[in-house]
Amino acid sequence: MQRIATFRKGGVHPSDRKALSSSCAIEQLPMPVELIVPLSQHLGAPATALKQKGDTVEIGEKIGKASGFISADIHSPATGTIKEVRKVTLANSVACDAYVITVDNDAEPKQWEYHPFRALDAQEILAIVQDMGVVGTGGATFPTHVKLMVPKGKSVDALVVNGVECEPYLTADHRLMLEKTEHILDGIMIVAQATKPKKIIIGVENNKPDAIQALRAAINMADYPITVEPLKVKYPQGDEKQLLKATIGREIPSGKLPIDVGAVVLNVGTAYAIFEAVVLRKPLIDRVVTVSGEAISTPKNLRVPIGTKVFDLLSFCNGTSRQPEKMISGGPMMGFAFFDDQTPVTKGTSGVLALDHQKEHDAPTTACISCGRCVAVCPMGLQPTKLNKLIEHARYEDAMKLNLMDCKECGCCAYTCPAHLPLVHAMKIGKKMGRK
Ligand code: SF4
Ligand code: SF4
Repeated sequence: MQRIATFRKGGVHPSDRKALSSSCAIEQLPMPVELIVPLSQHLGAPATALKQKGDTVEIGEKIGKASGFISADIHSPATGTIKEVRKVTLANSVACDAYVITVDNDAEPKQWEYHPFRALDAQEILAIVQDMGVVGTGGATFPTHVKLMVPKGKSVDALVVNGVECEPYLTADHRLMLEKTEHILDGIMIVAQATKPKKIIIGVENNKPDAIQALRAAINMADYPITVEPLKVKYPQGDEKQLLKATIGREIPSGKLPIDVGAVVLNVGTAYAIFEAVVLRKPLIDRVVTVSGEAISTPKNLRVPIGTKVFDLLSFCNGTSRQPEKMISGGPMMGFAFFDDQTPVTKGTSGVLALDHQKEHDAPTTACISCGRCVAVCPMGLQPTKLNKLIEHARYEDAMKLNLMDCKECGCCAYTCPAHLPLVHAMKIGKKMGRK
């Protein structure tokens, strides 16, 4: 029997709950009447506003300019008028300026013209990806043009494509792999043209056999040696470090990046965004979002304009069948709890979840019983219990010496802790204080 690859150290197996939405084909959300488009939707410095109250904007027009090396442009997801520029707080607690756009629903629909990509060189590809405001759509939102820059003296041996989608409930990438297979492969080819890897591996967990089959069938018709690697279901396999270990057996040392071990890692959703950017010259102005959870009346995978309010998403899914115990942006392990249904979808919003049965996870905390479970499941080989105690006593320097900064905030430790200690919260505080 063929051994199915995975990473070895740590990890957990939460119930995947993907059946709620995995068979729901992607539907287009009708354009809302109003959008809230934040200037900070990416890792790094917020974009600088190029428009002001009262200005008209066209769909795809640049309305925010990257303000640093790690930053990204913002484009208007609709034609309309800027009603106001105001402060918003996003689901991830980032506070920033945002455009409130009143959509002109009578505007002519935009036609995106096809541009051949085979003759483009690396610099041209990076310039287009940057100009179209592409960032990682898996949640990390790192500006893609920066990620694809191969530093002098380094080369790319492996391009590893992340089709893992290991967070419970989320099925947006799964549906993209089924419905936009060839466009994803074109996006991968574009990245290969820019980074020149010796091999390309697409990692997909084996709870998505139809996606594995669809990719393999499409690759047979493509002109580049690409392998699809089925992976054992295990969280957090979608993390770059765990994915590289599972697919190419390479370990990224502490404080290093994938390129330091000759790899570039790319999410399938980002590959699709790159296809749209380079081939259609369409900026990242919409994305696929899974709307799911036991409290959602009709779970769906929706293609939605960036800036869509959660209220509009929920309305299109016939609202909630009961009062959710928790609303989450992203997945339940690494996502962000939020309360306001005016919260907008951003480039990094992979899911909006209305969850029930959260009481067992939110049970009162008790004292640590030194069971060691958190240590056993930490994929980074850290000692969460020890770190938690150091952080509680404000001994941040000592925590840093135990590699606190390697923590990926994956949530495995908190998920498994019988004392329900808020370990991830402690790690976040410790890292913040450590950076200071
Ligand atoms: S949140 Fe951090 S400490 Fe906890 S399991 Fe994940 S990497 Fe380890
Ligand atoms: S899992 Fe929780 S109770 Fe067990 S050692 Fe870690 S912090 Fe303590």
